[in-house]
Amino acid sequence: MILFHYPFYKYVFTHLDVFSLGGALTFLSTFIILYVLAFISLFLIALISIRALKILSMVIIITNSIALYFVLTYHVILDRTMMGNVFNTDTGEAASYYSPKIFFYLFFLGILPAYAISKIHIQKAKKLHLAMQSFTIVIISVFLLYLNSPTWLWIDKNAKYVGALAMPWSYTVNAARYQLKEFKQNKKQELLPDGKLANDNKMIVVLVIGESARAANFSLYGYNKETNPYLSKLGIVALQGATSSATYTTASINSILSPTGSTSDEDEPLSSYLQRQGIDVIWRSNNWGEPTMKVQTYQKAEDLRKQCTGEGCDYDEVLLTGLDNEIKNSPKNKTFVVLHNAGSPGPTYYKKYPQAFEVFKPVCKSVDLQICTKQELVNAYDNTILYTDYFLSKVIGTLKNHDEIPSLLVYVSDHGESLGESGFYLHGTPYAIAPDFQKNIPFLFWTSPAFVKENKLENREYKENYNQKNIFHTVMGAFNMTGKIYDQQLDIFHKTP
Ligand SMILES: [Zn+2]
Repeated sequence: MILFHYPFYKYVFTHLDVFSLGGALTFLSTFIILYVLAFISLFLIALISIRALKILSMVIIITNSIALYFVLTYHVILDRTMMGNVFNTDTGEAASYYSPKIFFYLFFLGILPAYAISKIHIQKAKKLHLAMQSFTIVIISVFLLYLNSPTWLWIDKNAKYVGALAMPWSYTVNAARYQLKEFKQNKKQELLPDGKLANDNKMIVVLVIGESARAANFSLYGYNKETNPYLSKLGIVALQGATSSATYTTASINSILSPTGSTSDEDEPLSSYLQRQGIDVIWRSNNWGEPTMKVQTYQKAEDLRKQCTGEGCDYDEVLLTGLDNEIKNSPKNKTFVVLHNAGSPGPTYYKKYPQAFEVFKPVCKSVDLQICTKQELVNAYDNTILYTDYFLSKVIGTLKNHDEIPSLLVYVSDHGESLGESGFYLHGTPYAIAPDFQKNIPFLFWTSPAFVKENKLENREYKENYNQKNIFHTVMGAFNMTGKIYDQQLDIFHKTP
């Protein structure tokens, strides 16, 4: 923790005011995390054998010394991409990276300390004794971390750098992550069985995937602040009790696009499936974490921005650039549009909406939560919801321009968000213990008069407790598609509910 973490502490000290209370506590948290990780892993090895512990420590120290040489000499961080470079560098190229200086690192920071470890005599302790002691240390550390939870935001925001400078985790974990990504990319998605289109009538479905929006802060779900002034006037339906399948983006997106709500990306996603079944699919993204897909049109926000004009171009409205025309010129009768929003990701909520939407004030403008009140944080978050409300009303406006065609808008968030309740912030808490705020999501839809008429939805009552796996079947049903994969019980607009 002392010998190999000079770049780590250097990063922490330059990006954090360690002489302020918040900064000092954050520094303490990073130290505790490093300590607990090293402690737990070495302890588990020690339980197996002291000899293994010694050998492993020696190996880690030697590889650490080489890693430190690269970090300090080339000013790199050992993130996943960098580990990918390491695996893909041929030996000739690799040789050019070595200078005699590496032997200095290797000898003084690797071999010498490793030799010292080999000479240390370790007294055998009773395993039970050792386990109890370790358990106590871990519990105290985790408790300290929990007390220090407002500092997680900084760590989360800087995770890429902090993680890529923490030895030996930087190169071991990121090497594993790189290999996993390669493995996943080489794995083929299982194609779903073909469906059947009952007709070739015109139909537009727009699926908007939100980010970190939680139902609790939508006035459509009973929130006491007016965060849905636009949608509440447009006859939108808010499905009650909807939950997400996961608390983090990639898993949730997989689930939204899967017929079974699965959080893995093994199945062909809805977008690729519909494209393969002859529907025109347009995917526009102002976010990340999407599975590999094969669609006719995939547009990223930065490309759309080139044609976009107005203040909204820096925000989610960029996704609406030329959408009207794109729908009009769709080569097929059935068009499926997915808009993947930037939405409400923390901790810098105040950066996610145009100035005009700063309605709830004052707002938190810092990632250091110690200097923000809970109310400032919630205000900033509520403004993002207000902006999403406006954005969705614009999407409905676009659909209304095509009112001769039956259309459906579905909005669902990927997962919810914690805003400091019980000490939790952001999202990504393991599902089993995640607070409801991270799981209860807005699930809204809007139907055009033509769609209502065609599907006889005039007096339809909707059940509660829908979740992300309803989306696949609802979209299939809206396109009048049947087949082995279609489960009408999961279609929200199923003819006989
Ligand atoms: Zn997300």
